Amino acid sequence: MQRRTALFLLACIPFFTACAIIPVSSPAAPSASKPASGSVTVKRAQFLMGTIVEITVVAPTDTVAQAALTTGFQEIRRLEQLLSTWMETSELSQVNRAAGREPVSVSAETFQLLTRAQEIAEFTEGRFTIAIGPAVQLWKVTENQRVPSAMELEIAGQYVDYRLIRLDSTRRTVFLEKPGMRLDVGGIGKGYAAEKAAAAMREIGATGGLAAVAGDFRVFATRADGTAWPVGIQHPRQREKVLASLDVTDEAISTSGDYERFFIKNGVRYHHILDPRTLQPARLCQSVTIIAPDATVADALATGVFVMGPVDGLALVERLGLGAVIVDAEGGISVSSRLRDRIRLNP
Ligand code: ADP
Ligand code: MG
Repeated sequence: MQRRTALFLLACIPFFTACAIIPVSSPAAPSASKPASGSVTVKRAQFLMGTIVEITVVAPTDTVAQAALTTGFQEIRRLEQLLSTWMETSELSQVNRAAGREPVSVSAETFQLLTRAQEIAEFTEGRFTIAIGPAVQLWKVTENQRVPSAMELEIAGQYVDYRLIRLDSTRRTVFLEKPGMRLDVGGIGKGYAAEKAAAAMREIGATGGLAAVAGDFRVFATRADGTAWPVGIQHPRQREKVLASLDVTDEAISTSGDYERFFIKNGVRYHHILDPRTLQPARLCQSVTIIAPDATVADALATGVFVMGPVDGLALVERLGLGAVIVDAEGGISVSSRLRDRIRLNP
């Protein structure tokens, strides 16, 4: 268990520096700072959910700001207990252990996340699915650096199907129909945590804030000076380059890319976003950024659109009326109609 945690931390340190979304200019000094407007801005980072979580809070007083920071981190820690699949006591681990045997009762929050995940699975025709667990275990991209055999992938493929996840909203239970199935919320959980942390901070009196769980950002209201939060999208092939930037308020922004967790073997890049039809790394995109009112949706859809590819993915985003910046396999950039007037692309 300890070794596993260490691996996660090691895997995630370079991960953060290569973070897919970058606050363009630091919205606040690391310690409390008080601008002329009379509100206080505080910022803190912690390792949670196997990655770096960074929270910025704007509040009327330092006391409220510190309380909001603490609440935000507590919220994420609490959700980690419910949702992580590497903690044996988590609700999701219980659901996975009961696969093929019996439905498991879960908390309202876990149920809400699973319901949202199933909705996104429907929208993306199964390209996003938390049933991906057996394939994620087989690849373990950052730990293994091994390409599974065709036989292994075929066996795992029998269990990767969102239609085999049964949610009973009356009883609030989850049932995985086949033994061997395994839920993995790696593609949606960080957005959900950012969403909930932002809500909890607002509840306790923060007048503005940013909760960033690795590449999943949830922003509310404005910075202390009344301006929007500037964010940059990292170039998927040039580490130091910002591909595009935009200003956000009361929105979520998530990026999924093939450049954070990957290995290269015989000249082929193997990364952690898998196509549920083949269980191979999805090949149609280098990076997908989604902007949506809700961070859970932004996170899951970034992963799903990455698998769908630039054509079908953009069509879905337009249908849903959301924002997207998609970098295709050749490096071509598509921007959804909602974002065209807002985004600044760097040549
Ligand atoms: P990151 O975790 O780097 O922020 P994503 O949000 O795209 O990136 O999530 C990738 C993770 O989601 C993988 O590590 C894995 O746990 C899970 N995953 C991989 N492929 C899929 C998929 N097709 N649908 C849902 N989840 C996936
Ligand atoms: Mg995601």
